[in-house]
Amino acid sequence: TSTVFTFGETMMALRGSGALKLGGSMDVSVAGAESNVAIGLARLGHPVRWAGAVGADEAGELVLRTLRAEGVDVGGASRDAEAPTGLILFEPRLPEVTRVHYYRAGSAGSRIKACAVERAFLAKPPRLLHLTGITPALGPSALCAARRALRLAREHSTLVCLDVNFRSRLWSYEDAAAVMREWMPYVDLLIASDDELPLCLPDDAPRDLAQQAKLLLGLGVGEVVVKLGADGATVHTAEGSLHAPARPVNAVDAVGAGDAFVSGYLSALLDGEDAAGRLDRAVTTGAFAVASHGDWEGAPTRTELSLLGAAPGTVVR
Ligand code: ATP
Repeated sequence: TSTVFTFGETMMALRGSGALKLGGSMDVSVAGAESNVAIGLARLGHPVRWAGAVGADEAGELVLRTLRAEGVDVGGASRDAEAPTGLILFEPRLPEVTRVHYYRAGSAGSRIKACAVERAFLAKPPRLLHLTGITPALGPSALCAARRALRLAREHSTLVCLDVNFRSRLWSYEDAAAVMREWMPYVDLLIASDDELPLCLPDDAPRDLAQQAKLLLGLGVGEVVVKLGADGATVHTAEGSLHAPARPVNAVDAVGAGDAFVSGYLSALLDGEDAAGRLDRAVTTGAFAVASHGDWEGAPTRTELSLLGAAPGTVVR
């Protein structure tokens, strides 16, 4: 059986070397928040199933082939003959600023069917379901599929992890808040950036982070993990709060840090680690992503986890 079940849109990703309008060459890869998490988990040795939808096209083949090569089970993925695989362009505009351009409206990934998700889930009922707030933003069909997954998780006592991942390019704050608030009763483990917690709470929620986390715990969320970028992360549970600073690294590409963080957190959770152990692995995998180019390419295997923090110039023979 697959331990972790996830789905969402994974796109073909093209990464330029400078301003897009000047042309030049691009690197070809794939990108998707949930598949980034899936790859991170697979590298750490956890059985994981990704059940997104791709077009019946070569970009879709690239997505499936990449995930398969990383050891992610794509047996539950679907192909949509009537819509293309989505496309994302990364344009490094300044050393500190990367612009992202989406070509994903109406894509196969956004048209994922609830029945396909249900089939993939029931084929191997998982221990853990991982969703992000991107999927419900993709359109009514994807929203419906995500809702179905939450219901299935409840019926099968599957643990639910939700990474809020609010994308203002895809939907409004109000629409996102309505869905996140509806979903809270289903969520065991909530992962969010500090500015995303209010999306999950009533409009009159207090401004203080710790109070917001406490309210979420009161709604039945078992664990609230707040990502704080270069400041690390904090986990709030009924037992209290625990903070971990970020691992100091030479940051080369911040994209994907959040997803890498989630894969480390879930990996330690599946291993039965306590809150300190979960945070420790999460800030480690997050730091790997920041120190590597690409969304998921730098994700560590289990033996590589200890490489972080080696002195400059270290050669591993
Ligand atoms: P993204 O959307 O870019 O993937 P995010 O906003 O979801 O990121 P962040 O809070 O930026 O997530 O990063 C997640 C985790 O990665 C942080 O909690 C931290 O542990 C690690 N991290 C982020 N930035 C840095 C950094 N500059 N140095 C070291 N670790 C970092």
